[in-house]
Amino acid sequence: METKELVKDIIEGRLSMEELYRIISSDKNPGRFKLVLEVLQEKVPWDEKIILPLSDSLFIVCKDNKPIVKCKCGFEFGDYRVNWKLKAKVFVRDTLESLQELYKPFMHSDPNWTEIREYYCPGCFTLLETEVVPPGYPVIFDFLPDINAFYREWLGEEPPCEAEFMDKTLEYIRERMK
Ligand SMILES: [Zn+2]
Repeated sequence: METKELVKDIIEGRLSMEELYRIISSDKNPGRFKLVLEVLQEKVPWDEKIILPLSDSLFIVCKDNKPIVKCKCGFEFGDYRVNWKLKAKVFVRDTLESLQELYKPFMHSDPNWTEIREYYCPGCFTLLETEVVPPGYPVIFDFLPDINAFYREWLGEEPPCEAEFMDKTLEYIRERMK
C-alpha cells in the first residue's frame, strides 16, 4: 500500500526507474487516486477542490458547484466541456524560421504540410500543450472525461460536482461568432 509520501515522490519525479517499475508492475492500490488528489491539492495556491487532473499544470476543479478547468497559477478556463485551448494563448510554428528555433535545418517537418501549435496559459505563460497537425486542422480536444461516470461507476461515490456530459466547444464558438 502506498503512503502519501510515496505518491508525493512519484509526482515530484523523485523515484528511480527501479522503484517506479516496482509500483507499476504491482497490484493497483484502489486508494491511489485519492492520495494523488490530496498531494496535488497541497501543491496549488487556491482552494477549489481538484476532481480530476488533466496534466501537470491543468486541473478540473469544482467552482460554484460546476466543473471548470483551472491552471496551477489560478487562471480559469471555464466550463470543462469547452476545449480550454480556445482560451489559451497560441503560438503557431508554420515557417522555416520558427521551426528552426527548435530543429536543425532539414530535421523538421515541411511547414506546407504540418504546423506546430503551442498553447500557453494566459495567466502564467506555462506551455500547457502542443499539437502537430496539418494547417487548418481543427483544434484537438485532448480529453473530455465523463466525470459523473468516473466517480459513480469507477470510484463508487457521488461526484463532487456535476455537469451533463457533452462537448460544448461548438456551442461556445457559435456564440462568439454571432
Ligand atoms: Zn497558468
